Amino acid sequence: NFISAVVPPGEIGIKFDDIGALDDVKTTLHELAILPMKRPELFSHGNLLRPCKGILLFGPPGTGKTLLAKALATEAGANFISITGSTLTSKWFGDAEKLTKALFSFASKLAPVIVFVDEVDSLLGARGGGFEHEATRRMRNEFMAAWDGLRSKDSQRILILGATNRPFDLDDAVIRRLPRRIYVDLPDADNRLKILKIFLAKENIEPDFDVRSLANATEGYSGSDLKNLCIAAAYRPVQELLDEEKKGKKYDTTPALRPLNLDDFIQSK
Ligand code: ATP
Repeated sequence: NFISAVVPPGEIGIKFDDIGALDDVKTTLHELAILPMKRPELFSHGNLLRPCKGILLFGPPGTGKTLLAKALATEAGANFISITGSTLTSKWFGDAEKLTKALFSFASKLAPVIVFVDEVDSLLGARGGGFEHEATRRMRNEFMAAWDGLRSKDSQRILILGATNRPFDLDDAVIRRLPRRIYVDLPDADNRLKILKIFLAKENIEPDFDVRSLANATEGYSGSDLKNLCIAAAYRPVQELLDEEKKGKKYDTTPALRPLNLDDFIQSK
C-alpha cells in the first residue's frame, strides 16, 4: 500500500546515541516531541505549552533526517509510520480522500505515533498554478484537512514529521502547519569526528590511526558520504587479499585482514 513502513518502537533499532553530532537537534526534538509524548500531563494545562502537531526537518541530503525520525520514535516510545511524498502522489492519484482518511485513522489507532513524511515537498509542495496535477492538489488538501481535524486528544500523540531538501518549495499553508522547523546541517570537523567514531567503533584499525586527520580532510561530507567512505575503505584489505589469491596464494585457514590505516580512506576519497 502507500505506507512504506510501520514499525513498533522496540523494533526500530536506532537510538539518539547511534547518531553522531546533531546534539542541538536532538535536544530540540526532546523538548518538542519526546516530552509531550512521554509526559502528556505536563502539557495539558494552560495555553502556552501545547504539544506541536508538526515538525519540519530540512537540510542537505544525507545529513541524517530519516535517521533522526526513526530514533525519535524509539526515544519517544512511539510507533513509526513512514510515507514518501513522491510515491503518494505518483502512484495513488484518484484515491486521495480515501487514502488520507485511512492514513489518519490508522495513525489514531497506533498513537502515540510519528508519521514521517519524507520528501514532504512532493506531497505538500507549493501550489503549482494551472499546471498542477489535479490529483496532487486534492491529495494535499485532503491531507491538510485530516491533519487539522485531529482531535486535540489525538494531536498530543500523533506527530507529523516532514523532511525535505527543498524547504523553499513548500506551500505556505503547509509551512504554517509545521510550526517548528529544524535545520539539519552538514557536519563541521568536530562533528565529522563524532560521526566517524561511531562508524569505526567496531572496526579493526591501526593503533596510531588518526581519526581527527580524517575528519579534518573531509570538509563538505555529509554523514551519508562519511559512511560510504568508511565502507569503501573497509573494502581495501579485502581487495588486497583477493588480489593475493588471484596471484595463486593459498591460505590454510581464513586469514585475518590487516587493520585499516589512513591511506585506505584517502585512496577511497
Ligand atoms: P535525504 O535527504 O537524502 O533523504 P537524510 O538526511 O534523510 O537524507 P539519512 O537517510 O538519515 O539522511 O542518512 C543516510 C545514512 O547516512 C544513514 O543511514 C546513516 O548511515 C548515515 N548518517 C547520516 N548522518 C549521520 C549521523 N549524524 N550519524 C550517523 N550516521 C549518519
